[in-house]
Amino acid sequence: MENLTDELLNTKIEYFDKKETFQIAVKVKEWLKNKSAYAVASNQLGINHRFFVAGRKYKKVGLPTDLFLNPSYQAIYESEKIVCREQCLSYPDKVFYIERYTDILLNYYDPYSKTDESIKLSGLASIICQHEVGHLNGESDEDLTIDLDMVDKNNLYIPTAKKLIKYSEGV
Ligand SMILES: [Zn+2]
Repeated sequence: MENLTDELLNTKIEYFDKKETFQIAVKVKEWLKNKSAYAVASNQLGINHRFFVAGRKYKKVGLPTDLFLNPSYQAIYESEKIVCREQCLSYPDKVFYIERYTDILLNYYDPYSKTDESIKLSGLASIICQHEVGHLNGESDEDLTIDLDMVDKNNLYIPTAKKLIKYSEGV
């Protein structure tokens, strides 16, 4: 799992088996435990099962749990778009400026409660989930990124340990 570049990174991942995917996700959770990343998607680690795992500080960023199996999202009606400065485990030395929705409805299977969940998310939690589901959909951060010169700085947000902060208001 140490090799973070893989041919699956820009591939849409669809395979999902409740039991098998849960077992693999638990191993990834262990792997992620001492990393500083907010989360990692399965295909970033070359795993062809549809899930993402959040780090152990998931509650601080407003996420409901740490294992998200078979996730997808849609924008909530009236959700605004912002640009977020993002980093990624797969591109450790790069920074991306990516347009995101402020509010989403995240759908996923919760392997702890064995239920399908659907939850509204905003702020940092919303951005993290769009980033990770984006990986699972085969999106490339490098393709999505906007040139900083083209970004409206009043609409630019920066993630901190716990929340999103407006760039124009300083960190
Ligand atoms: Zn990433």
